[in-house]
Amino acid sequence: MFEKIAAAPADPILGLTEEFKADARAEKINLGVGIYKDESGNTPVLATVKKAEAVLLENETTKSYLAIPGTPEYGLAVQKLLFGADAPVIADKRAQTAQAPGGTGALRLAAEFIKRQLGDVKVWVSNPTWANHNGVFAAAGLEVAQYSYYNAETKDMDFDAMLADLQTANAGDVVLLHGCCHNPTGIDPDAGQWQQLAALVKEKGLLPLFDFAYQGFAKGVEEDAAGLRIFTESCSELLVASSFSKNFGLYNERVGAFTLVGHSAEQAATAFSQVKSIARVIYSNPPAHGAAVVTVILNDEALRAEWEQEVADMRVRIQAMRELFVATLKEEGVDRDFSFIERQNGMFSFSGLTKEQVNQLKEEFGVYIVGSGRISVAGMTRSNMGPLCKGIAAVLK
Ligand code: PMP
Repeated sequence: MFEKIAAAPADPILGLTEEFKADARAEKINLGVGIYKDESGNTPVLATVKKAEAVLLENETTKSYLAIPGTPEYGLAVQKLLFGADAPVIADKRAQTAQAPGGTGALRLAAEFIKRQLGDVKVWVSNPTWANHNGVFAAAGLEVAQYSYYNAETKDMDFDAMLADLQTANAGDVVLLHGCCHNPTGIDPDAGQWQQLAALVKEKGLLPLFDFAYQGFAKGVEEDAAGLRIFTESCSELLVASSFSKNFGLYNERVGAFTLVGHSAEQAATAFSQVKSIARVIYSNPPAHGAAVVTVILNDEALRAEWEQEVADMRVRIQAMRELFVATLKEEGVDRDFSFIERQNGMFSFSGLTKEQVNQLKEEFGVYIVGSGRISVAGMTRSNMGPLCKGIAAVLK
C-alpha cells in the first residue's frame, strides 16, 4: 500500500536543523531556527521555570485530564498578559481563552474556527510571513491571500502598499498580524501605524487575528502588547494566538493559547463553545505541565518580576548581537549597509543574502541560514561572530 507514497519535502526551517545536526564540522553555526541561545550557545531552562517546576513537584496531586480549554487560572493569566491586568474586555468577560499545544496549535484552532464558523473567507498574511502560516491555514481549507509588508530596497516596511492591499479585502476576511517582532523581517508598525491599521480593519469589517509569539522580545512585556491593545479598543471582535515557546523558553512543552474576544460576553461564550468542539476532535484536551509553569510564574509577584528580568536579559543580549554583527561586518571590510539590522526587533532579520550566498555559506563555512536570507540573530554569540562575519564577507565579494 505504501509503495505509491512519494516523500514529503523537508520543512524549510526544521529540515535545516536536521542538516545542521548531521554536519560534522566543529565550527558550524545555526542561524536557521528561532531558538534563543545564550552567550555560550546554549538554550537553558529559565530560572523562574525551574522554580515554578519545584512548586509543582511539591504540590501536584493528580495527573487527571484537564478540561478542553485547560484551566481557568491559565486562561485569565494569558488574558492579563495580552490585554493588561485591568482591561475592560476581561472584566466584561468578552475574552475566552483555550490553552493550546504551542502557538502553532493555537493558530490551527483559529484556522479551524474560521473555516467552520465564518465560512469561505480569505486569510490575509503579510508578504513575507512565517513559513508555516500558509501551511496551517491551507490545512484547514482556507484561502490565503498576501498583503505587501516589506520593501527590499529600503529594508523597511512598505506601509502604504500594506494599506492599499488591505483596502481590497472583503468584509469578513481575516487579517493576520504579528503582535510584535515580525517574523521574518523584524519590522513592526509604530503606534501611529497600528492606529491606522485598526481604523482600516474596523471600517472594512475585517477580523483581526494576532499571532503573538514574541511578547517581551521587542521593547518589554507590556510595551509589546501596544498594537493588540489599540486594536482591542477599536475592534469589538478579534482572535489571538499566543506562544510561550520563546518568552518562557518552554519550546518542547508546547504551551500556547487561543483567545477569542467577542462583542458581548454571551456572544463570546457561544462562539467559544465551537472552539471547544474543535479542540475535542483534534487533541481532546491540552497537556498540563507547561501551562501550569506559566500560571505559577505569572500569578506570583516575585516570580513574575524575576521572569520579566529574564525576558529583558534575552532581549538585551539579542540587541547587543545586532549591534556587534553590524560592527563586525564593517571590520571585515563589508561596505554594504547592514545598519537596518540594528533597528529591527526580536530574533529575526532579513539579511538580504541571496539563495546562492546562503548556500555558499553552508557549504564553505558551515553557516546555516534559511533560503530566504532570514537570519536568527538569537543564534549569534560573541565567539561565533568573528567566523560568521568572515564567511558573510567572503560570500559578498
Ligand atoms: N508564530 C510565529 C510568528 C512564530 O515565529 C512561531 C515559532 N517559530 C510560532 C507562531 C509557533 O510557535 P510554537 O513553537 O509555540 O508553536
